[in-house]
Amino acid sequence: MRPVSSWGRLGAPPHDVIELNDRDTVAAALTANRPGIAYGLGRSYGDACLNPDGVLWRTAGLDRLISFDADSGRLVCEAGVVLRDIQRLMIPRGWCLPVVPGTQFVTVGGAIANDVHGKNHHAAGTFGEHVSRLRLARSDGETIVCGPGERPDLFAATVAGLGLTGVIVEAELQLRPIAGPWLEGETVSFGGLPDFFALSDESEAGWEHTVSWIDCTSGSDLRGLFMRARPAGDRVGKPWRERSRRVPLTPPVSLVNRLSLKPFNALYFSLGKRRTGVQVVHYEPFLYPLDSVLDWNRLYGPLGFFQYQSVVPRAAALEATRDMLDAIARSGEGSFLAVLKTFGARPPAGLLSFPREGVTLALDFRSSRALPALFTRLDEIVRAAGGRLYPAKDARMPRALFEATTPNLAAFTAHRDPGMSSGMSRRLMGS
Ligand SMILES: Cc1cc2nc3c(=O)[nH]c(=O)nc-3n(C[C@H](O)[C@H](O)[C@H](O)COP(=O)(O)OP(=O)(O)OC[C@H]3O[C@@H](n4cnc5c(N)ncnc54)[C@H](O)[C@@H]3O)c2cc1C
Repeated sequence: MRPVSSWGRLGAPPHDVIELNDRDTVAAALTANRPGIAYGLGRSYGDACLNPDGVLWRTAGLDRLISFDADSGRLVCEAGVVLRDIQRLMIPRGWCLPVVPGTQFVTVGGAIANDVHGKNHHAAGTFGEHVSRLRLARSDGETIVCGPGERPDLFAATVAGLGLTGVIVEAELQLRPIAGPWLEGETVSFGGLPDFFALSDESEAGWEHTVSWIDCTSGSDLRGLFMRARPAGDRVGKPWRERSRRVPLTPPVSLVNRLSLKPFNALYFSLGKRRTGVQVVHYEPFLYPLDSVLDWNRLYGPLGFFQYQSVVPRAAALEATRDMLDAIARSGEGSFLAVLKTFGARPPAGLLSFPREGVTLALDFRSSRALPALFTRLDEIVRAAGGRLYPAKDARMPRALFEATTPNLAAFTAHRDPGMSSGMSRRLMGS
């Protein structure tokens, strides 16, 4: 047994970690050691990838590319392959992943099991929309091939299925042609939610990527930086060199706290305002700004942190977002990184996929005594607005909220593999 944590570092419970290295023997490994759950790179914030005191099947050793068709852009790879490796190998060859989350340190299996979204949801949907076939190992020893045209019911349960339908062994992905690594990016400062909505509406047709940083200390009297980007074609920007820094140790207390929040947010906003305007930028710093500081999650100290990510339907979004931001500002809690973004009208790829047409708000919170009351209030607002929370980021949602906001739960449960169990599945589904 050894301690394993997820990105929120809320604890490091002991796990019996079993390394999966050979794709042909995964089903046998599951049969011999059930119940357990797959673990990619542990970039989920809560307990979706944890199974305290039980088995974890670590997929990092399933890291082989199996085939690539340079005419069609079809890539077949093992599920432990990391998105950064695909991007760095394929972009110079004229192909890229159509959807990437805000970090590249995510495995293909983890990206499918949470059906991750990027800054281009309105244009490209979620990761699962670009998966054409999967091989899924089940704990009864079977390995099943599924996709949109083959066992579509099992496929829809596996995309966003939180690892609970089996372990994805390999996937076929449809890549997208790309001229090069450069994006035409623009930053626009804004004040107030109506301004944010106007910028989103104006940008969705012409800009592939949109996202906003907001100052969460300003409440609904909001100030923020709206960032948008689109492929730059054959234009080239200033040479980009990877400069990774690392937070070397965990400070004894969270560096994100009531004292640091306001000045940091004010500084970030004023520095950001100076960068407004159009520039040609490399895709890595634009799409994954946090990846330049490794282990930044240590900044929250030994008690770790929560992320609260919600989506509310567009019709209720103005009022619900205003109420959430006011509740957060009143609590004095919050983070340097608060993100507001719209999702487009795309049919969900998986039964439990998180994105819905509307507005998503994501904020980190250091672990503190004020949080339960704040989260209860935010839950009430989200539920009343017809919204939901993102399991990939969750470590505390009450089961009643999950059930009330997950209409496909019964259909999903029918496809669960009884040999798969996680901290999250026991918390939210009872087993
Ligand atoms: C800085 C940062 C930014 C992020 N930005 C975004 C974002 O913009 N959009 C977004 O959608 N998400 C975002 N995320 C969340 C992240 O993309 C997801 O949590 C992703 O699923 C993590 O992948 P992983 O490989 O680390 O999987 P893990 O976190 O290890 O596991 C995630 C889930 O996938 C399951 N799983 C893993 N591998 C397999 C497999 N082979 N077969 C079956 N199930 C499997 C696990 O059981 C678990 O339920 C972000 C996370 C971080 C840390």
